Amino acid sequence: MTTQLHDVENWVKDRIKQDEITKYLVDGKDFIPDTEIEGKLVANRSPEKARVRDALAKSLAIETLTPDETAMLLHVEDPVLLAEMKDTALRVKKKVYDNRIVTFAPLYMGNYCVNNCLYCGFRKDNHEAKRNVLTMEEIRKEIEVLAGKIGHKRLIAVYGEHPETGIDYIVESLKTIYDVKVNTKYGIGNIRRVNVNAAPLSIEELKLLRVSGIGTYQVFQETYHHDTYGRIHPKGTIKANYQWRLYCMHRALEAGIDDVGIGALFGLYDWKFEVMGLVYHAWELETKLGIGPHTVSFPRLEPAFNSPLSVESPYRISDEILKRIILVIRLAIPYTGMIITARENAEMRREAISFGVTQTDASTKIGIGSYSDENPDQAENKQQFMLGDTRSLDEVIREFSEKHSITSFCTAGYRCGRTGECIMELLRSGKEGKFCKLNAVLTFQEWLDDFASDETKLRAQSVLQKEIEEIREQMPAIFPQFMECYERIKKGERDLYF
Ligand code: SAM
Ligand code: SF4
Repeated sequence: MTTQLHDVENWVKDRIKQDEITKYLVDGKDFIPDTEIEGKLVANRSPEKARVRDALAKSLAIETLTPDETAMLLHVEDPVLLAEMKDTALRVKKKVYDNRIVTFAPLYMGNYCVNNCLYCGFRKDNHEAKRNVLTMEEIRKEIEVLAGKIGHKRLIAVYGEHPETGIDYIVESLKTIYDVKVNTKYGIGNIRRVNVNAAPLSIEELKLLRVSGIGTYQVFQETYHHDTYGRIHPKGTIKANYQWRLYCMHRALEAGIDDVGIGALFGLYDWKFEVMGLVYHAWELETKLGIGPHTVSFPRLEPAFNSPLSVESPYRISDEILKRIILVIRLAIPYTGMIITARENAEMRREAISFGVTQTDASTKIGIGSYSDENPDQAENKQQFMLGDTRSLDEVIREFSEKHSITSFCTAGYRCGRTGECIMELLRSGKEGKFCKLNAVLTFQEWLDDFASDETKLRAQSVLQKEIEEIREQMPAIFPQFMECYERIKKGERDLYF
């Protein structure tokens, strides 16, 4: 690390721009009314069947549920109603996303951090953590493996909050990632979409991120509960400022990044409250800025090295509760993409994908620099937490194919301007699905030719054939043009999309 201690302290002092919080407050208050949320959770404790069914009809029409409707669904215990909820969730997912699953890989860029979140292994007081930041050369090596050997097209780049990995580093690292092109068996492999998970940024910084070609800007609120948030993010740190974090998506949208991802870290406070927080956040973005979250994440608190809260929190959730959370989010914010990661084990991921989740990672490594390391040290003090599913992308895709799902490597949406309000409308109306269907087949074929094992190729054939048949039936006008692209892909051309 080259930054001196006093430079770090000065950097921290200047981070929060109070005017970029104040301007969004209404009567000095933010949009998470804790008492109102608690009240709605109590008032909707015994939901009537008819009201639950009305809410499900709204979900099926891809309308966002109100906080009261969400609170009601959070309390359903009747097994018949629960089965109806699950069935509706499945239909909602099918209507918006059909049988497509998007895959990506996380890339941890650095673990220096000025914050002290009590649940995270990267917190500054964890003096036993091994710290590192990838150099541009090291990033190139990671991408050569991710894009050249595994075949990923999408990344989520994860950054600690520190001057070593400030906005200049983020911008430079995105450029480096996009620049790497690797020869593959039949074509060229490259990363085509980089989503970013980084601490809240100012509007000026977010404008720089927009022009550097970011996909989704993702920040998790961790907990929406004000008091809990204050307790677990020690005073004097940047992260202690709840509202600086809460309004980062407002700033992103104002800066022209119209593709944003929200999330809560489940296990820090009451799970029902957190789901309500996510729904209030989605409503706020939809109604005030015209664009809801493109993705919602619901990571669960995992044991992190030297971070006692990560194991001691009384609010840690069971597998059953996690499934309920996924179910209610799918119904309450029906248009949104939902992400489950390799933190969860294979069985949980399988089930989550069956009724709600649309994106997942594979071949995942979360040690810094560990994709290109032949013998990666997965020691607990080198990574944020331990993974639950370490299967390769090839294995995961084979399983999806067996379940008749197609893995989409499509990254066309944001490159063709299908983001923000435009994508919201396309998702709600089901029209985005048409582009996605075409691009899913093209990109899947690309990946199969370049990276798949023989066994996976074999399993994928029936899914591909079925998709091509459906395109022929459902989009006869575009079918000849599509087939021409498909043949060109098979001959080794790459990155063709609609
Ligand atoms: N430093 C940035 C921030 O906090 O926004 C981004 C990087 S941070 C590593 C990404 C996310 O990791 C956090 O938003 C948090 O939800 C999650 N995280 C931290 N500790 C965790 C733990 N023990 N288990 C699971 N997720 C954790
Ligand atoms: Fe730093 Fe983010 Fe970890 Fe908090 S969650 S300690 S901000 S890396």
